[in-house]
Amino acid sequence: MIELNDDKCMHCGACVGACPANAIYLNEVILDFNDDCTDCGLCVRACPVGALSLIRTRGLKVPAVTA
Ligand code: SF4
Ligand code: SF4
Repeated sequence: MIELNDDKCMHCGACVGACPANAIYLNEVILDFNDDCTDCGLCVRACPVGALSLIRTRGLKVPAVTA
């Protein structure tokens, strides 16, 4: 999954154009991702200010859900 650092993002749209899955949405105030993200990392490389990070989630232990 992709993590965004809001403090760094300047809403340039470079990551939106780089995403082959159309998984990034951008408007004037929000940058968001949908479930089509394949964790390819292209948006991370496209960001000129290092605002995006790729978080590896596979293999992580998921805490049990308690009622
Ligand atoms: S990791 Fe790849 S698929 Fe996911 S939002 Fe970034 S460019 Fe799109
Ligand atoms: S490329 Fe980086 S700075 Fe530009 S909109 Fe995406 S996250 Fe924000």
